[in-house]
Amino acid sequence: MSIFVDVALPAAVRKQFTYHVPQELENSIQAGQRVWIPFRNYNAIGVIVRLHQQKPSFKTKPVRKILDEKPILSKELLDLTEWISKFYFASWGETIQAALPAGLNFVSRKYLTVSDDTDVSQLSEEQLEVLKDLQENKTTLDEAKKRWKGTGLNKVFSKLLKDKKIEIWEEPDLKVTVATEREWIWADGKDENAAKAFLESKEVNEELKWTSALALIADEIPIRQSEIPDDSVFTSYTLKKLQDEGWITFREVEKNTGIDHLEFEPDSIKTLNEDQEKAFEKISDALTKEEFTNYLLFGITGSGKTEVYIHALKQVVESGKGGIVLVPEIALTPQTVSRFFRIFGDEIAVLHSRMTNRERLRAWKDLNAGKKSIAIGPRSAVFAPIQNLGLIILDEEHDSSYKQIDPAPRYHARETAIVRATMNDAVVIMGSATPSMQALNMAAKGKCELLELTKRHAEAVLPEVKILDLKQYKGAMRGEFAVPLFMAMEEALKKNEQIILLYNRRGYASYLQCEDCGHIPESPESSVSLTYHKRKNLLMDHYTGYSRRKDLKCESCGSANLKVQGSGTQNIEEQLEELFPDSNIIRFDRDSTSRKGAHEKILNTFGEGKADIMIGTQLVAKGLDFPNVTVVGVVNTDTELAFPSFQATERMYQLLSQVSGRSGRGDKPGVVFLQTRQPDNPALKFARDHDHRGFARQEMEFRKPLYYPPYSRLIRFELKSTKDHEVNMAAHILKKSIEYVISDIPVLGPSPAAIHWMNKKFIWEIMMKIDTEKGANYIERMLERIMAVYEADIKGKFSSVRVNVNVDAIH
Ligand code: ADP
Ligand code: ZN
Repeated sequence: MSIFVDVALPAAVRKQFTYHVPQELENSIQAGQRVWIPFRNYNAIGVIVRLHQQKPSFKTKPVRKILDEKPILSKELLDLTEWISKFYFASWGETIQAALPAGLNFVSRKYLTVSDDTDVSQLSEEQLEVLKDLQENKTTLDEAKKRWKGTGLNKVFSKLLKDKKIEIWEEPDLKVTVATEREWIWADGKDENAAKAFLESKEVNEELKWTSALALIADEIPIRQSEIPDDSVFTSYTLKKLQDEGWITFREVEKNTGIDHLEFEPDSIKTLNEDQEKAFEKISDALTKEEFTNYLLFGITGSGKTEVYIHALKQVVESGKGGIVLVPEIALTPQTVSRFFRIFGDEIAVLHSRMTNRERLRAWKDLNAGKKSIAIGPRSAVFAPIQNLGLIILDEEHDSSYKQIDPAPRYHARETAIVRATMNDAVVIMGSATPSMQALNMAAKGKCELLELTKRHAEAVLPEVKILDLKQYKGAMRGEFAVPLFMAMEEALKKNEQIILLYNRRGYASYLQCEDCGHIPESPESSVSLTYHKRKNLLMDHYTGYSRRKDLKCESCGSANLKVQGSGTQNIEEQLEELFPDSNIIRFDRDSTSRKGAHEKILNTFGEGKADIMIGTQLVAKGLDFPNVTVVGVVNTDTELAFPSFQATERMYQLLSQVSGRSGRGDKPGVVFLQTRQPDNPALKFARDHDHRGFARQEMEFRKPLYYPPYSRLIRFELKSTKDHEVNMAAHILKKSIEYVISDIPVLGPSPAAIHWMNKKFIWEIMMKIDTEKGANYIERMLERIMAVYEADIKGKFSSVRVNVNVDAIH
């Protein structure tokens, strides 16, 4: 009886390919291994997803070689990636690729080899020359094409390839190269003292930028390139000058984010308080019984959800199993990680997208080999190769970063975690202070069990939240701050307490506007307005990365009266420096944290009390725990509402609740100020009253009659093309195809997307809402039929149009 294998390739094609297994490989072949298979005109690498004995109706080709001795994907992860590929309508191969770290996935190159059965005695001299070259020099297909281009040997090579005297083999890009960076060190004979002496003998002078650079860097050497402050003094010019003057030199060192080997003080596990204990007992029971159970841990900020996670994990680890802790990307700070490290130490592998490929591969291997039993990371850590999985924790369950939007697979980590836990009889804990409507709806339907923590630990109480109507404070502003907020800040600074200020969403903050005609420069790459960045004096498009120097004249009317409108975090920072000249201010946004390690440094500085005020974007709202913070201010509360989505209110509400939770976490009471021009917005009042249930009730009442999630599942079809008329027509045909396949379901659109033009492509969208009870098989079959009808209807036209399908699209 012959054995067959189905093989997935890392391409967008939603289809597996069947091969037979030659006898000599029968004993060693297993699902989850990578293999070489003849595909088109070369030997491709794919992953075996299934072994079986059903002979297909066509003539199969043989598997040529096995690449991995042991499977790199367990049966469990094969099943999970298969489920994702159906439910989220992605290709299985792409999904597998997303689940594996770089270096193990099947990124590959095409190499040439001389075929085993080539009879050299039959060949011409020129042919032999080509073969000899290939045997002696490892050559990729692309290199060969270049090597003989324009020479007589080009034809000879093509013919040999065509006659299969030369074969093409894919080889995995297994090498995860060491990423390096410069580390600046003292040049021979130079040191800190020499630099100081030199600087004293010489006036440190503004003209000579490099001398000020030397003064600044002298204490820090050796210093890595990534640690050099993003300061106007340090340009590549000044660094080169320092080098030319013989002060410093550099060596290449391996880049290291350091996230995977944090230094931590071991800590003993805390005794749970009464509420926490009650919640934990339930979880503990389910863990003991090894029964799939999904818990929604609804606990206000500071109620000690993390302590409950730690206790649950401890039980899991002690029973010889492993666990996954998912956190929003942004919250994956050493502050969070170290709380787990203190208890579990080396049992933990961190999987962080900012780690180097090597660091991530190492973490993956440690987990896969069972050397470590806990993975902590963002969304993709849901694929961590944990042996014997007992528990998955989703902290801040409501966070939007759990959904992958691009590229495929467009999976949601929450749903994926639930499916993975089901497959393992494991337990899920979804934790949040502001659970998503989806999670609350699951609880209402009995699909998860609600556990509540309603008090902050010990004496800490929730902060008082005050809504400041900016319309009433017109004459009473200090810069961007209404007087009550300003006074509270003054008061806090006097008492040596700390302040966090949230300035909402850069990008909407600062832009250029013509005072004469009102024109706002837009990005030529997308239809969004350009953001002005003061420090770099640039206009930037954050969707596409386009940037240019600030305009001197209006593009539209030629006027030179251009004014910077709105103020970003940098402006606020400057205002603060004027208002509170004696305080230390620190800024925390994507600009200030783009360098590796900057994130951590800022938080440490603030945590150690070396700064009094932290001003930042959404980043400051998530998961930070600084007991000395007593005042939190939201400078511009309304911005979030301008976002075109049915979820805008929920987003704003969540942001306000999260940021409020940063205040009064220690033994001093906190206060929160929300500055707004819409003081009557109910979402603000619910946030003020810490009334998540009230908010959720109102939000559900709004969504139910409109059949929005959580009452339905949204599927978004996104059509893209460089040609607007083609994408428009294709979208109308697709809508008909959807209605043909599913006649009784609401379909919205087609309509131009919110950002209609991006990266030189026009984008249209269609939305459909389906019943949330429908499973992966139903969704896959339905979407397959829709796409088949669509393909038939367009009859090969509109080849420029790409259709992406996004299941569980949030907006
Ligand atoms: P959450 O994750 O719900 O926001 P945390 O777990 O961060 O809350 O708890 C808030 C603070 O209270 C933390 O500093 C934590 O160490 C402390 N805490 C919570 N529970 C306990 C406990 N049982 N014993 C001692 N300290 C606790
Ligand atoms: Zn103008």
